[in-house]
Amino acid sequence: MPEGHTIHRAARDHHRIMAGQKLVISSPQGRFTKGASRLSGQLCYAVEAFGKHLIYHFDSGDALHIHLGLFGRIRKHKLPLAEPRGAVRVRVVGNTHAIDINGPTICQVLCRDEFLKLTQRLGPDVLRSDANPDLAFKKISNSKTQIGRLIMDQSIMAGIGNIYRSEILWRQSVHPETPGRAVNRQTFDRIWEDAKELLSIGVKHNAIITVTGKYQSKGHHRERVNIFSKSTCPCCKEPIRRFEISGRRVFVCEKCQPLTS
Ligand SMILES: [Zn+2]
Repeated sequence: MPEGHTIHRAARDHHRIMAGQKLVISSPQGRFTKGASRLSGQLCYAVEAFGKHLIYHFDSGDALHIHLGLFGRIRKHKLPLAEPRGAVRVRVVGNTHAIDINGPTICQVLCRDEFLKLTQRLGPDVLRSDANPDLAFKKISNSKTQIGRLIMDQSIMAGIGNIYRSEILWRQSVHPETPGRAVNRQTFDRIWEDAKELLSIGVKHNAIITVTGKYQSKGHHRERVNIFSKSTCPCCKEPIRRFEISGRRVFVCEKCQPLTS
């Protein structure tokens, strides 16, 4: 599943190649024909990301809203147009490039009010400069729910996915099962800042890289995480415990991340 950094990277790229142009939009697969014909020919003035939501803004006030979900994928190619590969839900064609999106969970047109409602139900996004972390801290500090669940809840804070969750909590020595209300402001700020830093690295390199400094992996360049899917802690060498929160794998070093409540 794409994490927040993937969508932010796509949004920046699509903004660069599509904004300021009248776009030709179609649905080769046929499941978005009505939406595509409403948007086609409109001037796109910006493409941006809110968490894992990709938004194309048009001058009429309409927006194209995409969420890839677990199986969606984005393909980009330079013009001339290539044949659609597989079931392309929406094809966006600008002056120089075409973007094909297959298998998204959400592909819809939003009017101005619907777009505002979407942004209101999403928590602050660590990768956005206009994000207000106070909103996330307020919800977390009033909750008995485990921090490992809260930081991945997109209505509380947006952007962190499954791999980053385990990595950030390990880097900040916070046990994923710590209740939200036991996380003080200082700890929350460390989590927020670390998420911002790591996801920015993810956007830049198009990869999840959470190893820095003394834990920098030697040899295998594919090893770019500290504890996710690992068996021992790179810091204390104790075994890593794995368990699930809402059906998604979580990793923890019980020694480096003692549970406080
Ligand atoms: Zn450890």
